[in-house]
Amino acid sequence: MKVLKFGGTSVGTAQRIRNLAEIIPANEPIIVVLSAMSGTTNSLITIADEAKKGNSERAMDLAKELEAKYYNTSNELFFTNLYKKRGEEFINDMFSKIFRDIRRGFNGNVYNETLAAGELLSTGLFHQYLTEQKRSAAYISALEYMKTNDDQEPDYNFISDNIDRILDDYIGTKIFVTQGFICRNNQGEVDNLGRGGSDYSAAIIGNVVDAKEVQIWTDIDGIHNNDPRFVNETSPIRELSFDEAAELAYFGAKILHPSTIYPCSRKGIPVILKNTLQPSDPGTIISHHYNPSGVKAIAAKDGITAIKIRSSRMLMAHGFLKRIFQIFDEYTTAVDMITTSEVAVSLTIDNRKNLDKILDELSVFSSVEVDEDQTIICIVGDFVADKNGYAGRIFNTLKNIPVRMISYGGSNHNISILVSSNHKIDTLRALHQVVNENNLIEA
Ligand code: ADP
Ligand code: ASP
Ligand code: MG
Repeated sequence: MKVLKFGGTSVGTAQRIRNLAEIIPANEPIIVVLSAMSGTTNSLITIADEAKKGNSERAMDLAKELEAKYYNTSNELFFTNLYKKRGEEFINDMFSKIFRDIRRGFNGNVYNETLAAGELLSTGLFHQYLTEQKRSAAYISALEYMKTNDDQEPDYNFISDNIDRILDDYIGTKIFVTQGFICRNNQGEVDNLGRGGSDYSAAIIGNVVDAKEVQIWTDIDGIHNNDPRFVNETSPIRELSFDEAAELAYFGAKILHPSTIYPCSRKGIPVILKNTLQPSDPGTIISHHYNPSGVKAIAAKDGITAIKIRSSRMLMAHGFLKRIFQIFDEYTTAVDMITTSEVAVSLTIDNRKNLDKILDELSVFSSVEVDEDQTIICIVGDFVADKNGYAGRIFNTLKNIPVRMISYGGSNHNISILVSSNHKIDTLRALHQVVNENNLIEA
């Protein structure tokens, strides 16, 4: 079994949806995981936000606009009148629920149910398209097997039992179409795995079915050595180890949801990134294989808050760190970077939900300074004892950038630095020199 996940742009138009059918192999078992068409989840969030605020007229207008887009796509996608009509009926059913929920006011769990419509629409249409093409495929609803537990982590036992049961119902079927992103929570309500979560869905499914590989199809030819949205002349990295890719995904490379790697690395399942617009391009392969070769890639994670905690006794008394981390633990807030001095600790978080409570508790025994709008720049490379002096070259390129924190030595293949977000692009560009030099040395 292989798992192939297609992102928003890959299902973004009727023509692109047709292209997918060409990409999916015919002779081996495949689970196809789809995101919503690009732009849809954003529109659904706006609709749900407006409806929740009581602006039902605005929500209704936006929902009608989105519905019209789907009628056009369906009309263009299908060849026969029969399937055009089926597509229309399906879209009508999906949007009738949204209109009804807007009219009734957004109570209970309707917000998350609305967000789930994007993936239900793309998979429903794609499955009908395959059927029109006379390709036998089964539609399996993620809401019947994808579930999170009390800690909002995937409930692997439940997912595995249920997906096995569902797949067993379709002996002989080669193609299974299912949704990324959406799931049920521990209460059984419709929920999701967070923005960009379809990658994570594919990885979880790959894990539970022991897939041969998980392919993530997107709009670029693999993981690039720097963020192509901000830096010119980036190039794809053909091979990365699980650890390197996990650091890049976690620290901001938007191409992969931060949690995608672990479910696959746990079982040694290769993750391959491919470009739907250029299917023959090899993309990036992520596996256990580690090829130590200089500075490989740079990524940036925005929305970071830095907290400096100074012991009120002006020295790092025994137990000071323990007290600090107990507070972050109590408020289930993950710490990304940390640096210490004799009298103070600086650390960063990306989840501000409980920040006020955390600050109140820290203030009892320390003085605290908070800096918002920070960005972590993650540099992935071979830094084992830095025998090649890469760290020196990295810091040399940053001589004009005010660096707030540096974390080095936490792992053999990561250096992280913290800068104010308005220096992010300059930092990415400055560091690109080091990656380029490395490419020259490697060539
Ligand atoms: P999808 O909708 O297929 O999930 P995403 O938009 O989530 O696609 O991810 C693909 C985008 O990620 C690319 O178009 C690119 O702009 C951006 N991106 C950011 N960092 C990187 C990187 N290091 N390598 C490749 N793409 C990146
Ligand atoms: N459609 C969801 C989002 O836009 C999930 C995904 O695209 O991976 O976040
Ligand atoms: Mg994505």
